[in-house]
Amino acid sequence: MYFENSCIFAEFPLDSSDHLRGDDQTLNKLKIEKTTKVIGYRNGEALVESENKIHFLSSCEANDTAIFLGLKEGSAYFAVELDEYFQEPNHTVFLDMRSIAKEVAMDGFSSHPSLLARGKMLIDWHSRHQFCANCGAISEIKKGGYVRHCKNCETDHFPRVDPVVIMMVIYKDKCLLGRSPQFLPGMYSALAGFMEPGETIEEACRREVYEEAGIKVGDVKYVKSQPWPFPSSLMIGVIAEALDDNINIDNDELEDAKWFDKKAIQSVLKNGGDDDFRVPEKLAIARHLLEVHMMAE
Ligand SMILES: [Zn+2]
Repeated sequence: MYFENSCIFAEFPLDSSDHLRGDDQTLNKLKIEKTTKVIGYRNGEALVESENKIHFLSSCEANDTAIFLGLKEGSAYFAVELDEYFQEPNHTVFLDMRSIAKEVAMDGFSSHPSLLARGKMLIDWHSRHQFCANCGAISEIKKGGYVRHCKNCETDHFPRVDPVVIMMVIYKDKCLLGRSPQFLPGMYSALAGFMEPGETIEEACRREVYEEAGIKVGDVKYVKSQPWPFPSSLMIGVIAEALDDNINIDNDELEDAKWFDKKAIQSVLKNGGDDDFRVPEKLAIARHLLEVHMMAE
């Protein structure tokens, strides 16, 4: 599996070619090149083939609002939103990002999920940010889709990414995991929360763990990150060292939180879980954090 060490939706496969984004003339030429590959989306879902590959549309599908994703091996890649009248070709289907991630995790989807996710996140941002946040006038797409410009007040707006810190909290040989009411029976996962303006990753981690579980955290170490296209987050995975193990749950945030010992977690990682205790699948960075720490000698 190509994502063995990195998470699903990581490892963007194209050269982003930032230098071309402001070059409308070249982008317009690329939109009609025969070698150009266009990814179609509708309502957040990407058009894929039933054999679990991206179904690339031809260059003629690229339009004024097409988003330039980058270059690879002489081909330019664009993402477009298709309208409700678009007829899916035979053997194709629109698939949401979560289903694609699940397919990848089962080795069923051979295309790059990170490519599909970036297109989805950018298209989604444009659809939700049509109007200038500064003056309310309608804004227009610029720089190959990486900027919205307001002509009325001359403001540029940039695609939004919402950082989330997700932490595996450890204390001696134990790991703190929590569950939300909507989780599957027995599912426990790493605590997580949106970062707030002006916070460092370490501060966000300490605040969230204290708010949700009443536990004070000392050292925080970055492990890895995962783009998360729901709608456009970056999951920042850390390992956090608790200073004590007295849990005090905030029931508005969590249904339960518990310390699990290393052996119980290793067993679930190796043998799978059940309705008493299970952990997230490989599509989630929480699983990677558990594997990195709990399977290490
Ligand atoms: Zn404006």
